Amino acid sequence: MDIHEYQAKEVLSGFGVTVPDGALAYSPEQAAYRARELGGDKWVVKAQVHAGGRGKAGGVKVCASDTEIQEASEKMFGMKLVTHQTGPEGKGVYRVYVEAAVPIAREIYLGFVLDRTSQRVMIVASAEGGMEIEDISAEKPDSIVRATVEPAVGLREFQCRQIAFKLGIDASLVQQTVRTLQGCYRAFTELDATMVEINPLVITEDSRVVALDAKMTFDDNALFRHPQISELRDKSQEDPRESRAADRGLNYVGLDGNIGCIVNGAGLAMATMDTIKLAGGEPANFLDIGGGATPERVAKAFRLVMSDKNVQAVLVNIFAGINRCDWVAEGVVQALREVDVDVPVIVRLAGTNVEAGQKILAQSGLPIIRAATLSEAAERAVGAWKNDLSQGVKLRAIS
Ligand code: ADP
Ligand code: MG
Repeated sequence: MDIHEYQAKEVLSGFGVTVPDGALAYSPEQAAYRARELGGDKWVVKAQVHAGGRGKAGGVKVCASDTEIQEASEKMFGMKLVTHQTGPEGKGVYRVYVEAAVPIAREIYLGFVLDRTSQRVMIVASAEGGMEIEDISAEKPDSIVRATVEPAVGLREFQCRQIAFKLGIDASLVQQTVRTLQGCYRAFTELDATMVEINPLVITEDSRVVALDAKMTFDDNALFRHPQISELRDKSQEDPRESRAADRGLNYVGLDGNIGCIVNGAGLAMATMDTIKLAGGEPANFLDIGGGATPERVAKAFRLVMSDKNVQAVLVNIFAGINRCDWVAEGVVQALREVDVDVPVIVRLAGTNVEAGQKILAQSGLPIIRAATLSEAAERAVGAWKNDLSQGVKLRAIS
């Protein structure tokens, strides 16, 4: 789960990281009012979206009066901000952050990520701040400083000092840099983050070390341990299909294809997507309905898959070990009676109670296409999508 810049700054400041003074606004009027409250004579209005690269896309604006702030935020609100990280559809701006403008002397890149090779938290830093890390590694790979943290002892001061020296940070600022690095590391580990990125971390003209931008991503599977973080979720920034799935406890990832997949087990779901591709099709989603799927759960899965308007065929692939094919078959039948499924449905069942399951499907009177193997199912799904099968078998809304 991602959070907004203003939220990440609040979280990190709780761990001793210095951030500029700022306040959140939900309207242009409120933004102007927030600036007056903050005081000072120069502010930065920042669109709050779950993506970087806002500066170049018009989502960060320096302002010198409250009228300017109001005008800048009027442009941002309701806008779909398209940056290189949002995809072409962009992300809606519903909140802006008004922040005191900071006099920047130097910009530094600082990131904390999970390095799977060393199985440790890795610090990635570069004196070339302000650029995206992808560009830094392409253009100035030698400027990147990396360090991994031994989990048993945590991030030690000497390591932070080494990083500070490699970044050419003045000795008088090393203590502040150490505090920033250790604060980020503690926030990362204590809150089960998978990424903390401060780009840029700046040295100000008055010699302070300040996080000017902040991005945090958290491990979804650990969110139950951090209710205060779960609360920061902003559904307006997520793929609506994925947030609906998360609300229903389903493991779903939306994709761009048109063959909807309903599968039990993550590995089988991956194999199903591969087989669809092999048969010349494109999966519309990854969906693992889990081991003990009840008919209600299968119906929920159908609703979710059908809510994607690109879906032109649905492939149900169940290997029942813990599950039972007859339950799943009942779920499929129930779903097709309740949910508006107007595309071909292909079902492949294997495992426990498979005969009973097939019987339920056959006796339902519904135009379900049955397949004996996964490859047959994938071929039939792709065929159905390519209209070979869609004439005689096209289902109409059953309510
Ligand atoms: P993004 O990474 O999405 O483009 P940033 O928060 O990094 O957004 O802002 C982009 C640039 O705007 C920064 O690199 C910095 O130069 C400038 N900036 C951002 N916030 C401030 C601030 N409070 N004071 C001065 N300059 C700022
Ligand atoms: Mg940035």
